[in-house]
Amino acid sequence: MAAPFVTRFAPSPTGLLHRGHAFSALTAHAAAKDSGGRFLLRIEDIDATRCRPEYKAAIHEDLAWLGLSWETPVRRQSEHMADYDAALERLRAMGALYRCFRTRGERAGEFAAAPHGPMDAFRGAPLPAEDEAQKLAAGAPYAWRLSLDAAAARLGGFERLSFTVQDEGEGEGVVQARPEVGGDVVLARKDVRVAYHLASVIDDALQGVTHVIRGLDLADAAHVHRLLQALLDLPTPIYRHHRLILGPDGKRLAKRDRAETLRDLRQRGITAGEIRAELGFD
Ligand code: GLU
Repeated sequence: MAAPFVTRFAPSPTGLLHRGHAFSALTAHAAAKDSGGRFLLRIEDIDATRCRPEYKAAIHEDLAWLGLSWETPVRRQSEHMADYDAALERLRAMGALYRCFRTRGERAGEFAAAPHGPMDAFRGAPLPAEDEAQKLAAGAPYAWRLSLDAAAARLGGFERLSFTVQDEGEGEGVVQARPEVGGDVVLARKDVRVAYHLASVIDDALQGVTHVIRGLDLADAAHVHRLLQALLDLPTPIYRHHRLILGPDGKRLAKRDRAETLRDLRQRGITAGEIRAELGFD
């Protein structure tokens, strides 16, 4: 019997999908089909301040238009906060999280969303108990950060953490995890209760994802994810990073740069077949 193959497309409903999303979804869908595996859709809507119901509806509409089908029920992260809270509690209980009061310029969106650009790599430390108590009493806002020092102490370093990557054009290889690339990542805050990194890792495990297929811009995130899997005793999927679809300016398409959306293309009379062909799928 062939090894199980489960992959997913996990958009955040913070805007309309563009060609880059289409490429990612088509790549994962085709990989599942070629392996006789399963394709899941997951809605990553943990950031209530930025997610909108109309974007959720548009994701379904756009993917169906592209000719994709996926299993139901679709997992919506906002409905599973208890799963993330439980994991945060475990991490807290093992001393792997600390309160960080450095809120300078930090917006929730930065940790609620996947880091498509370079990560911050900030490393801090818990405040002395007295200072912390004072800040808490004064109602100072804080975020929960993962302590790389505490994680390394618990795991005896990161040398034994590795994972398999199958990046486009690079073949398959085992890489050693370098969670330092992400620094002490923020994993929770009062307004956005769980960060992308944690929710994504938990869901991939709960949904039995064997292959995480996503853009090369998220290659570094896998190093952080591998560490979270080790701390939480979760299985490690294979990571497959695909090329990025670039806009006319040579930059990665991004919602915030107002990349032309699939809805725009549809309204211009472009067919799904044309988009599929343009992206290399027949
Ligand atoms: N919601 C994330 C995004 O918008 C998903 C990243 C992933 O596939 O892990 O990019």
